[in-house]
Amino acid sequence: MTSRAGDESTTAEGVGAGQPAPPGDLELAGMEIPEDAGDHRDALIDILSRIPPHWGRWIDCEAGWFPLIVELHGQLLELDPNYVVRQVKEKFGSLRYYAGSSIADPVAQQRFSTLLEIAERFSTTVCEVCANPARLSVSNDSEPWHKTICTTCAQNVAANTGRVFRPHVPPPR
Ligand SMILES: [Zn+2]
Repeated sequence: MTSRAGDESTTAEGVGAGQPAPPGDLELAGMEIPEDAGDHRDALIDILSRIPPHWGRWIDCEAGWFPLIVELHGQLLELDPNYVVRQVKEKFGSLRYYAGSSIADPVAQQRFSTLLEIAERFSTTVCEVCANPARLSVSNDSEPWHKTICTTCAQNVAANTGRVFRPHVPPPR
């Protein structure tokens, strides 16, 4: 009796374990959707779909900046529903959102550029890890890393990796 019941449950499990799922449309389109995208998943997919496939369709920053990126995307869409994205990444501790507008109106083009600049500057006040208020910081490495990170996340990084981030103090003018 006991062994027979065991056989049945094994059979049931065997039925459940089918073949691996075929790759989805997004995967086929070469998109790397961040696993921690959460509520921002659809907007991030829309952003990724605007990157020409040969550029590499990924977002190279941590999840703390996703709300900022999605808000910027919404503002750009209002100006130009057909705008194109080339790259979204972190560089020297701030956001780089490389995008091009398809509109001819110079005033709208200027507004487009200004939105990018504002978002990039604002990113140096938002923790790239957790989205809380933060400061642009530098690490204690011999070749220092720049990262906009809050005190709590910096403590976690220090505990896990030994890398210590301190707020970046701009040189006196
Ligand atoms: Zn943080």
